[in-house]
Amino acid sequence: MNNIAYLSLGSNLGDRMNYLKHAIQALACHPKINVLAISSVYETDPVGYTDQGKFLNMAVKIKTSLDAEELLETCLEIEKSLGRVRETKWGPRTIDLDILLYNNENRKTDRLIIPHPRMHERLFVLIPILEIDPFLKIPTIDKPLIDILEQIPNKEGVRLWKQINGEDVYALFES
Ligand code: ATP
Ligand code: CA
Ligand code: CA
Repeated sequence: MNNIAYLSLGSNLGDRMNYLKHAIQALACHPKINVLAISSVYETDPVGYTDQGKFLNMAVKIKTSLDAEELLETCLEIEKSLGRVRETKWGPRTIDLDILLYNNENRKTDRLIIPHPRMHERLFVLIPILEIDPFLKIPTIDKPLIDILEQIPNKEGVRLWKQINGEDVYALFES
C-alpha cells in the first residue's frame, strides 16, 4: 500500500452525518485502503448552485494499493451504495466522494483529473485538507495551499460542525 491519496467527502441530503460515517466506514473496510487521517466535519454553504441545503464536508488521507482509476471506481461504488443519484450538476447529493490528490500525479483524462481541478478554489476543501496536512503542496501550483487559503478574504461559508480528534477511524463518530 504505497500510494497516498486525499479525498473530499460531502453530503447535503437526508442524514448527512450518517452518510459521511458510512462512506468512511466503507473506505476503512476496503482491503486495499488504509485510512490514515480524517479531518473534522464542517458545515458549509452551497456554492455554484446555491438553491439547496447546506453541506457537511470533510477530507480524509488514505494509503492504498489501488491505482487512481480503481480508486475512482471505488468512490463511485460507495456513492452508489449510499443512494447517490446524479440529477442536476452540482445539485443535492447523499454523498460525493472526490479524489483531490493521488501521490504527486498530475493527469487529465475524460474520467479523471488529478489534482481535482477546483480544489484550490474551494474553502470547503482547503480548510479540511489543511487541517490534516497544514504544509500541503499540490503538483499544479507552486505556492503551498495554506497561502492560497490565506488569500481568500471571506471564510464565513465554512463552519466547524463536529470536531474530530485522533486518528482511530472506528471511534470517529462516537458521542
Ligand atoms: P465537482 O467535480 O465540481 O466537484 P461533482 O463532484 O458534483 O462536481 P460528479 O457528478 O460527482 O461531479 O462527478 C462527475 C464525474 O467527474 C465523475 O463521474 C468522474 O468521472 C469525474 N471526475 C474527474 N476527476 C475526478 C476526481 N478527481 N474525483 C472524482 N471524480 C472525478
Ligand atoms: Ca465534488
Ligand atoms: Ca464527485
